[in-house]
Amino acid sequence: MRRIAQMEPWFGEEERRAVDAYMASGGWLTEFTQTKVFEDMIGQYVGSPHVLATSNGTVSLIVAMLTCEIGSGHEVLVPDYTQIASANTVRLVGATPVLVDIEPRSLALDLERAEAALTSRTRAMMYVAINGRPGATDRAVEFCRDHGLLFIEDAAQTLGSRLRGRHLGTWGVAGNMSFSPPKVITTGQGGALFFNDQALYRRAAMIKDFGRPKAGVDYHEVLGFNFKFTDIQAVVGIEQMKKLPWRVERKKTMYRLYQERLAGVGPIEWLPTNLEDTSPWFVDILVPADRRDALSAFLREQGVGTRPFYPALHTQPPYAGMGGDFPVALDASRRGLWLPSSTFLTDDEIGYVCGQIRRFFAG
Ligand SMILES: *Cc1c(COP(=O)(O)O)cnc(C)c1O
Repeated sequence: MRRIAQMEPWFGEEERRAVDAYMASGGWLTEFTQTKVFEDMIGQYVGSPHVLATSNGTVSLIVAMLTCEIGSGHEVLVPDYTQIASANTVRLVGATPVLVDIEPRSLALDLERAEAALTSRTRAMMYVAINGRPGATDRAVEFCRDHGLLFIEDAAQTLGSRLRGRHLGTWGVAGNMSFSPPKVITTGQGGALFFNDQALYRRAAMIKDFGRPKAGVDYHEVLGFNFKFTDIQAVVGIEQMKKLPWRVERKKTMYRLYQERLAGVGPIEWLPTNLEDTSPWFVDILVPADRRDALSAFLREQGVGTRPFYPALHTQPPYAGMGGDFPVALDASRRGLWLPSSTFLTDDEIGYVCGQIRRFFAG
């Protein structure tokens, strides 16, 4: 059997042909008409009226905060458990991330803890729907409204996931999506930003293009940079978007299959997941902290790749000395393991992985 990676890029003939056709067309490579098509496809899919493609998901968050004029003197509530870009980007714009513990069922920011972290400087909340689980997105919107905060969604892991029919990333003033290679769809690097407000969208569009209201015209209305996308990536993204409905269904089916095949394996804990709403990006399990790395090493010997959950941010050198108490984030980061989640996996391969996990816990 081939080695089973935890994740692998997923593209085929369609992408190859699209790039070939684009190169033959003599385009300028940078963002232009194909990027617009890609943005419109995403907008249609997630139900966002205003979509901007960006260089990557990290850049999306930076543009979101610059657009909302978040910066020096402001604090932004960020979950202690997330991909580190959520917090680092707050620092890049000159604001201060205030880490908040998560709630154990969804791994999303805990609103009770958020209440306790509020100060007169709190300007925004960055809410991260981990692995497509919406958590309390709706209550977080209300929380932010009640406390006069901007609600920004880092929805990088949520393509295909909704809460009561409304796609994640479209609930706040700005929502972020990432197209890096492990994400639900990929353009190599790439990201998108969703806005509900047209004025914010226009401002963000200028910020990502040197502050220009119009491409190619050197008048700079606001302070802007170059955070643009490219048409050569867009033609890949367009092909990926065509396959997205299939991929979303496959991810749900794979998650169910893993759950069936691992049923009754006592040490494994599953996070509550409503597969009507959530298309799990990765198949994630919690195992006893003192067995996790041994399980991972055992699976590697059997040719199966896994990946431990992100570390709790407060344990990482850039956040050393932050202080605070984050027991839930710490527990999840020590117990969580991502199992092979590529949509290339066959049912037989998933069966093999589950058989090896059973062997490990039986032994
Ligand atoms: C992947 C990810 C990012 C970063 O996106 P890039 O496109 O890699 O810059 C940010 N936040 C979360 C939650 C992510 O999963």
